[in-house]
Amino acid sequence: MSEGIIYLVGAGPGDPGLVTVKGREIIRQADVIVYDRLIPEAVLGWAKPEAEMIYVGKLPDRHTLRQEEINGLLVAKGLEGKRVCRLKGGDPFVFGRGGEEAGALAVAGVRFEVVPGVSSAVAGPAYAGIPVTHRGKASSVAFVTGHEDPGKDESTINWAGLATGVDTLVFLMGVAHLPAIVEQLVSHGRGAGTPAALVERGTHPSQRVVAGTLGSIVGLAEQHDVRAPALLVIGEVVDLRETLRWFDNRPLSGWRVLVTRTREQASDLSSSLERHGATAIEVPLIAFADLESYDILDGCLTSADRFDWLIFTSQTGVLSVRRRLAALGLDVRALKGPRIAAIGSATAQVLGEWGIRVDLVPERFVAEALAEALKAEGVAGKRVLIARAEEAREVLSEVLSEAGAEVTVAPSYRTIPSPSAGPEIVRLVAEGTVDVITFASSSSVRAFAGCVEGHDPASLLSGLTVACIGPVTAQTAREVGLTVDVEAEEYTIEGLVEALARHAGTRDAERCGGLG
Ligand code: SAH
Repeated sequence: MSEGIIYLVGAGPGDPGLVTVKGREIIRQADVIVYDRLIPEAVLGWAKPEAEMIYVGKLPDRHTLRQEEINGLLVAKGLEGKRVCRLKGGDPFVFGRGGEEAGALAVAGVRFEVVPGVSSAVAGPAYAGIPVTHRGKASSVAFVTGHEDPGKDESTINWAGLATGVDTLVFLMGVAHLPAIVEQLVSHGRGAGTPAALVERGTHPSQRVVAGTLGSIVGLAEQHDVRAPALLVIGEVVDLRETLRWFDNRPLSGWRVLVTRTREQASDLSSSLERHGATAIEVPLIAFADLESYDILDGCLTSADRFDWLIFTSQTGVLSVRRRLAALGLDVRALKGPRIAAIGSATAQVLGEWGIRVDLVPERFVAEALAEALKAEGVAGKRVLIARAEEAREVLSEVLSEAGAEVTVAPSYRTIPSPSAGPEIVRLVAEGTVDVITFASSSSVRAFAGCVEGHDPASLLSGLTVACIGPVTAQTAREVGLTVDVEAEEYTIEGLVEALARHAGTRDAERCGGLG
């Protein structure tokens, strides 16, 4: 049996991008992941599918596993010879009780390593635009627990020293004891006018910041209902937020956006939304499915030489043709005959990744523009193969046929509505946890209208911003009764997000992002 090892890994403060490279590697390779509350889903998603996932955080009906039980669990897994990743929020040795766990492992003779993480104590202020030290404003900083009841007689905290001897103070776990913390500091000599800020859910897209002074922060916290996880920053550096704020004032900060594309395609849109500050919520309205028969496609692919043009109208069209060729024992060389057209830049890019340089991409990424561009090439008498979704619009084949082309349509995949999406969307809308719904295709609009049974699509979405990727999708949305608020000018995912960001910019500033 190989020797077990426990890695005490810091998972960072919430933004999955703040996990270290080493930490991610260990998460990917671990046999067992032992994790706390506040570990982002995305980070847990890096674990191997067969990894044993053990949650040791708080549950509604159970208190935290006692620390000794967690220590015992880690020792036991180590002695079993497992590679264990003990994942802790922020840094494992900053108020994470990581020291106690390492101590138990040392006593039991189980090997361990520590992988430091980005602590919320530094990252929370940073994402609020507050450097914890700054030339001329703060040359020292202290991280302090706010967990301990500051009213208790024998505090382990040196309040007098902290209040007057350290420039920047960062309190973790302090929301519940906020009034007492402030009182201790002020009564020990820190001025009530000292700048202070609360950072709630720091580094998350939903981060909120409330800034004021020691004298006003308790009232502000109540007024804005600040909740855990949050940290308190005190000191002159807090004022720097006025000029250094960068995260919670991005164009889509504070906006919660439903991404309804298929699972496979959602991440492009989600990450672009997140780069602009939004929270992306993925609820796929459609899924890709295999065809019942590939006879038509197979016939075309095995004799692709006889076509003058091969047209792809989606990335999925490209990927499904690629898969089908592989299933037939063929590869990209089977497509060397025809010239190749793509409906838009994303489709062209996927073809490029496959080693195919595309001969034609229209200026506007819709079927009508592609048809016109092909007509301009002179398609009369040419044999044209269109590889596409089974249920796509016929406009391309119609226009090309009218122009005298001999058109063959070969479905290479189909999209089907996902059954669970309707109830999920109805629930999110009822809870008021979304601001925007995005549609990146007509089929997702139709799937939406079909899956919210018992609800009128228009009234269901009446309080939301409806954003569509282009004119065809927008038209379909109007046909099912929706009011379209945002229509991309460039019919790409990036174009959609930019149009939404412009729309958000024109809306009430109060809706956008943090508070102070
Ligand atoms: N080891 C962790 C801290 C654990 S104690 C670290 O290094 O970050 C838990 C406390 O950390 C919370 O009560 C809160 O005060 C703070 N915290 C953790 N994540 C936070 C976040 N995203 N935003 C603000 N505070 C956070």
